Amino acid sequence: MFWTPAFPGWRGCYHAPVYNPSRDQARQFFFDSWRKYRAGETLSALETIALQVILLHPEYHPLFDAPERNLDRDYAPEHGTLNPFLHLSLHLAIEEQLSIDQPPGIRMAFEQLRAKTGAEHDAKHALLECLAEIIWQAQRANAAPDQALYLECLGQKLRT
Ligand SMILES: [Zn+2]
Repeated sequence: MFWTPAFPGWRGCYHAPVYNPSRDQARQFFFDSWRKYRAGETLSALETIALQVILLHPEYHPLFDAPERNLDRDYAPEHGTLNPFLHLSLHLAIEEQLSIDQPPGIRMAFEQLRAKTGAEHDAKHALLECLAEIIWQAQRANAAPDQALYLECLGQKLRT
């Protein structure tokens, strides 16, 4: 599974399958959570978090209402469209990081960003940008993501 308490905090984020080709499980998980919500079924704790993340993004709701068209859809970088599944998966990673304050200090950085931007979603997008950046760097260097760099990036967002 791409995001479970079995991979707490940083590692959970690092091992997220959005960063490797086996993306189907992650996508299916989002679709299932949404379908259950629409059908009025009971959601698990993890599905509830996934649902909250989807609800934050009304622009993606039509996508989730049409799984047959979107489950396998490609979002090649050259098309210039942001991959919604990647975006939501990063959101999930951030929810997990915030819930256990991993890397340490992330919760405080988030609170400060929220105070600065005045909007929770904007603050989370600042986290998301930094996270995406250091994951990208880690992949290029074939190394683990650099937590210090992550917090440094957030500090920069606070100052600008
Ligand atoms: Zn978002």
